[in-house]
Formats: sequence, structure tokens, C-alpha cells
Amino acid sequence: MKKILFVTSEAHPLIKTGGLADVCGSLPKALAELDQDIRLIIPNYQALKSTESVRFLFSLRVDNRNINILETRLPDSQVVVWLVDYPTFYNYPGNPYVDETGEPWANNAERFALFCRVVVEVAMDRGYQDWKPDVVHCNDWQCGLVPALLSLEQDRPATLFTIHNMAYQGLFPVSEVALLNLPGQLWHPEGLEFHSKLSFIKGGLVYSDYITTVSPTYATEIQTAEYGYGLEGLLEHRKESLGGIINGIDLDQWDPETDAYLTHNFSITTLDQKRLNKKELQTRFSLPINENVPLFGLIGRLVEQKGIDLILECLPEMLSMSVQFVLLGSGDKDFEKLVQKLAQEYPDKMAIKIGYDESLAHLIEAGSDIFLMPSRFEPCGLNQMYSQRYGTIPIVRKTGGLADTVIDTLPDTLLNNTASGIVFNEASASSLLESIKRALVLYSIPSSWKKMQITGMKKDFSWQKSAEQYLALYDSL
Ligand code: ADP
Repeated sequence: MKKILFVTSEAHPLIKTGGLADVCGSLPKALAELDQDIRLIIPNYQALKSTESVRFLFSLRVDNRNINILETRLPDSQVVVWLVDYPTFYNYPGNPYVDETGEPWANNAERFALFCRVVVEVAMDRGYQDWKPDVVHCNDWQCGLVPALLSLEQDRPATLFTIHNMAYQGLFPVSEVALLNLPGQLWHPEGLEFHSKLSFIKGGLVYSDYITTVSPTYATEIQTAEYGYGLEGLLEHRKESLGGIINGIDLDQWDPETDAYLTHNFSITTLDQKRLNKKELQTRFSLPINENVPLFGLIGRLVEQKGIDLILECLPEMLSMSVQFVLLGSGDKDFEKLVQKLAQEYPDKMAIKIGYDESLAHLIEAGSDIFLMPSRFEPCGLNQMYSQRYGTIPIVRKTGGLADTVIDTLPDTLLNNTASGIVFNEASASSLLESIKRALVLYSIPSSWKKMQITGMKKDFSWQKSAEQYLALYDSL
């Protein structure tokens, strides 16, 4: 049995802003189910929701501050959660990273540097809990200083750093460095310095014993200039200690047979019930009720990464065809305005909801025929997996985890029952439009469509498979 300290800045259902929380809520559970002794550590944000009881565990003095460690559990699991309680830094309303206008909290460097320091103290058992992990598993830039600081310790646990998205690196002006009181030996171009800025992510990339990212394809892509954001050289240099493990999905939360957010549950044997969710979706979005019109769905952050600009370019032509399109998301204000404008122009074809809505996300996955995910890059992506499980055909660009989880529909893949989506190569509106047209042709052939749906619904996206890979990796460290 391994002792694992799992470090993250968000974990569903405690607190979530995106896919990172899904992974960090599910992987620890899957590891606990494999009988591992895992503890999750996370800042005690104001917005953190715990349905389990919380108790005081111990105090630490870190960087001249008094920190309390509270203990709770990840809801519906045996996973112990340690909350880093320091109200001055974490008792902020709403989002863990940004204020209500979308601006990063001004003291983010200090907030997450303190979190990392506390994690190091816990990892070295300086709270005297008689529990020292074998492995400290860190996720994304907010945890990046942990491997760096631990590298300076004697008898330290092994460290693993997982990249969920290279686009977010935790870069701060050099003026912050003095505030953080970091050990001087970490501050150099081969260390935490990145073009005269402080880079949190480099702490993970340079100093951890091993690096993973959330899909094998993305692990290769980030070693190139197109996806590496200037860190491709470092990643290439570390390629012997860099691998990809694909994320799973939470099969209980995302199960069309039991999903409580759906008005009509369905499975492979009752696939015809899916259309009732389509009807519900059309009703909720005030679109014409029509069983036969192909309904496209999209859920996600409205940012360039997700290829929203490509969709905007395609939409006028797409909406000239006999289709419907529903979109749920929020993000870039310009994108929000543009999709709003189009929805007003085509009220009987396109409807949107700006915002975050968990239950509507489930209904969109269930009620849509086709899911659009033309990302420019996608470390793993979850919605394309949810889609396949819900008999919804994803259209994806061949990148990152999308390339690893969706098999394009071609005559041979249709014949050998592996086809479960539409995959295109080039990040251009014309390539996307061509795949939309391909999807519409396939949609008009019910036998092929049903075959693709069933192939997707049968696929194994369980966390267990991925957790076993992580465990093998922990063993090797
Ligand atoms: P990313 O982490 O890059 O945002 P992922 O596809 O990995 O993208 O994960 C996004 C997760 O957040 C999915 O579970 C998705 O359903 C959910 N999500 C994103 N935007 C919304 C929204 N507006 N409402 C509800 N769920 C959302």
C-alpha cells in the first residue's frame, strides 16, 4: 500500500472551476478503491462545500504565519481531505483564482506559495501526525513550488507533477519573488526563473521526479513550440521522465441510465428514450420541438483554446442548414457577446445560456445528437467522453486527449465497430465545416448512426484503468 499526498487547488464536489476538479475529485477515489492510503490537500476557500463533518487536526507555523489543518472527507468516499486553513488568504468569495470581474486575485503568488510551503511541511510530517507520504502528487502550477521546495529536503518523498494545461503557468513579476521569501538557490534560469519572471509551473517541471500529462498525445505535443509555450525545450530535455496517462470519467455521475438530471434515463437497450431528452432540451431552450432535426451541443469555457472562433466562423453557413445548436458556457466577454448576437439572429435554430450550470450540462450531453469540440489544443478533455457515453457523436479536432479518445468514422472503422465520432486535422473553419457536413450525412443513415452511438456507449472510460497506471508509476518512483 502506498501513502500518497494528493495536492490540488480544486476537487469536485468541494470546489470546481473546470476539468482539473473533475480529475482531482475522481482519481483519489479510484486510488482509494485500489486500497491505497491517499490524502488530498487543498486550500480552505470560502466557497468550498463540504457535506461531511470538518474537524481541527493540527497547527503549523509556516513563513511566520499560523496555519490550521482541518480534516474532512471527500463526499461519498473514504478519501481523507486536509484543508489548509488560513483565512487571510483563502477566505475569499467565489472563484479560487479570480475575482468577480475575472481579474486574478492580486496576491495569488503569495496565496499559492503559502499553500505549497504548507504542503511541504505536511509532506515532511512536521505536524507530527505519524504519516509521511511515499509520493507527493502535485497538479498544475498552483502546486508547482512543492517539488521545488521538497528538492531541498533530506529524506523527502518522491514527487510527481501532473500538467493539466500548459497554457496556465503561474507567471509573476520578479517583484513578487522578494515577497515570497523563497530559498535563493531556486532562483536561476534553470530553476524557477522564466524570462525574468517567476514561473510556478517550472517548479514542477524542473524539480519533480516524474512529470505526467493527461493524455499520451499531449505529452508529445508539449515538446513542440506550438504547444509548449516556451517550455518545450525543458520538456524535451526531461522526456525520459515524462509520460501521458489519459483521464477517466466519473462513471456514476455520468451514467445515462441513472443520471438524476435527466428526465428520461436510457441505455444501449433503451436508446430510443434519448429522443425524449432531446425534446426536453428543445423545450428548455425554447427551440422548435422537432425530433428529426440534428441537434448540436457545446459546453465549455468560451476561450480560444476551445476553438470558439472556428465555430463562430462556421455558424452562419451551419445555421443556413436544417440544424439546431445549443451552447452553454462562459468565458471571454467578446465571445459571449458574439454568440448572443447570433442566437438573436437565428432564434429558431440557435439558443445559448451564458453561465455555469451542472444540470443543464448533463441534459445537453443527453439530448444532443452531435457535440462540438474543435479545440486548438486539449490536454485531455472530458466532454467528448461524456458525449460518447451518452450516445452523442463528438466532432473533435485531432489533438491531445481528443485524438486519444475518439476514433474517426471511416468505412473501415465503421465496419470493425471502432468508429465513435468525427475527427478533423486542421484548426480551420473550413475543416470544421467539412466535418459538420460529414456528420450530417452520417446522421441521415440511421443504421450507421446507431452503430457509432453504441460503439461510444460501450467504451471503457473508467478511472480504474488510469488509476492502475498511476499506481504503477508511483511504484517506479
Ligand atoms: P477544461 O478543463 O479545459 O475547461 P474539460 O473538458 O477538461 O475542459 O472539462 C470541463 C468540465 O467542466 C466538464 O465537466 C464540463 O462539463 C464542465 N463545464 C465547463 N463549462 C461548463 C458550464 N458552463 N456549465 C456546466 N459545466 C461546464
